[in-house]
Amino acid sequence: AAMLHLEGLTKTYKTGDAALSDVTLTIPKGQIMGLIGPSGAGKSTMIRCINRLVEPSAGQVVLSDVDLVRLGKSELRRQRRRIGMIFQEYSLVERLTVMENVLSGRLGYVPFWRSFLRKYPPSDIQLAYRLLDRVGLMDQADKRADALSGGQRQRVGIARALAQEPELLLVDEPTASLDPKTSRQIMRLLIEICAERGLPAIINIHDVPLAQQFMQRIVGLRAGRVVFDGPPEQLNEAA
Ligand code: ADP
Ligand code: ADP
Repeated sequence: AAMLHLEGLTKTYKTGDAALSDVTLTIPKGQIMGLIGPSGAGKSTMIRCINRLVEPSAGQVVLSDVDLVRLGKSELRRQRRRIGMIFQEYSLVERLTVMENVLSGRLGYVPFWRSFLRKYPPSDIQLAYRLLDRVGLMDQADKRADALSGGQRQRVGIARALAQEPELLLVDEPTASLDPKTSRQIMRLLIEICAERGLPAIINIHDVPLAQQFMQRIVGLRAGRVVFDGPPEQLNEAA
């Protein structure tokens, strides 16, 4: 696992004002940080700037001594493998099985066609089974992704991200379209898995009560700036 430091991270899209303004913060190894704020506050922009799905306009993204913002394309591709991404649950490849979706995490990109899947070594297959067992989907390995429920799909998303053996997890609205009970189950699973591995994570949660229930640290964004950074108890006092 790694430590993440953001220094003066700023993003101005061509069409507008700064979506992210001068954000500086550090996430130590093993810390799970919940990112909250109203729609348009810059949460997705921040998550996407960290792995450069969005190009930052200024600032640094330092993952254990490497500034990702300064890297050229090929080195960025290598360094990105250190960062696992979990999106809303519709990000699975529908026509592939659960097992194939998890294995695609070993590739570092999402294959769109079955024929793109290489033959995986037995160690990859074993890892994928261990992860499916951990997320409680051992008996679903051969089902197609499009046959799963929302909660199951998100479990596959978690297993796929872990198959990459990441040093940092970025999680963008993991429970956006799940019911409250399933949302809590998924959030609890994520937290347990990160804690087991000492894996730091940034979780974009639009649901504030859910963030308060599960996060040790909450960062609040508003209009691209950090307006709160502390434990959930202090959020109550600030509000
Ligand atoms: P959040 O995730 O907190 O809802 P976003 O990061 O999606 O916030 O958006 C922050 C601001 O940046 C908003 O004003 C949004 O309209 C704007 N924005 C987001 N993506 C783009 C884009 N691709 N091009 C232009 N503006 C964008
Ligand atoms: P979220 O707030 O969940 O990130 P949005 O509905 O704000 O989602 O945005 C959906 C998509 O549109 C995102 O990819 C975002 O980057 C993009 N987007 C948001 N605002 C703008 C904008 N003003 N101009 C262009 N693209 C935008």
